[in-house]
Amino acid sequence: MSDKPKFAMYWAASCGGCEIAVLNIHEKILDVDANFDVVFWPVAMDAKYKDVEAMEDGSILLTLFNGGIRNDENEHIAKLLRRKSKLLVAFGSCANEGCIPGLANLSPVGEIVTTAFNTVSTDNPNQIYPRTSFDTPEGEIHIPTLYPRLKTLDQVVDVDYYMPGCPPESHQIAAVIDLVVQVLQGKAQLPPKGAVIGAGTSTVCDECKRTRHVKTITSFKRIFGQPIDPSLCLLEQGIPCNGIATRDGCNARCPSAGAQCIGCYGPAEGVVDYGARLITGFASVIESNDPDQIDRILDGIPDPTGQFYRFNLAGSLMKAGVSAWKKEKV
Ligand code: SF4
Ligand code: SF4
Repeated sequence: MSDKPKFAMYWAASCGGCEIAVLNIHEKILDVDANFDVVFWPVAMDAKYKDVEAMEDGSILLTLFNGGIRNDENEHIAKLLRRKSKLLVAFGSCANEGCIPGLANLSPVGEIVTTAFNTVSTDNPNQIYPRTSFDTPEGEIHIPTLYPRLKTLDQVVDVDYYMPGCPPESHQIAAVIDLVVQVLQGKAQLPPKGAVIGAGTSTVCDECKRTRHVKTITSFKRIFGQPIDPSLCLLEQGIPCNGIATRDGCNARCPSAGAQCIGCYGPAEGVVDYGARLITGFASVIESNDPDQIDRILDGIPDPTGQFYRFNLAGSLMKAGVSAWKKEKV
């Protein structure tokens, strides 16, 4: 057996984009292979849960865990990998703050299942719904049980480091791998437990090259179908850009390409509730003291939940919408 430190990666409730981002570091992936014994990575290799269960506690040096906790299987593996790993990293927006799967926290779980199995695009004439256990001649089989709401990784287990992004940028992943390799070689030290890694400590605005003046918003508008100044701050042009509340580290990729930041790098350093900070930021640049006019200006944001909590609902102070909380049992 290899004496290299062990590496694991897991996906819970996620889309697979974080896995692709890791593979997207190109030849740097060879450093992972050269420096680690990859013992568990379901998307890339065949390994069984029982193989992980058989390992000694703390025997995996580094686990990158992506995805939120939506069902009992996700939670079981999160707890298992926590026990087996020295360093557990919440990798990507879903594990950190819930991300897009967390938007399902706006609805009770029964409604989500009904929608999935009973829509115009679902051929389900006998109205068959999944059951969490089922008797067969070969024995009882189980599928995971959905929870009332999606939780972030640190709402379920202790997390050592947080790596944001939807997905984390490949250059940031490569930098983190470099750091871990240097730590292994005794040339660097790990940051303090609980630190955010692979990202900056300020906001996307700080990385953005667009020109800024004092912002005065009299209307919000969509970015499509109208002339946009290519060098002026988008928010100054009435485009609801989330850079003011979003952690830097992506090189302001979206505003540089002519699109507003939608917040995929999560809350900036020190921000407790992303949506609340953003709402405060937008409110502070609206040029009116008239409540009716302010209402009309805010009507220019057609999807407030998507604007303010697209990535962060499960990790926010609210965590879920009212109807999901009413069904919450835990
Ligand atoms: S609000 Fe958006 S466009 Fe304006 S400086 Fe910040 S990131 Fe750039
Ligand atoms: S600019 Fe915003 S949305 Fe775009 S990659 Fe950066 S953090 Fe994500």
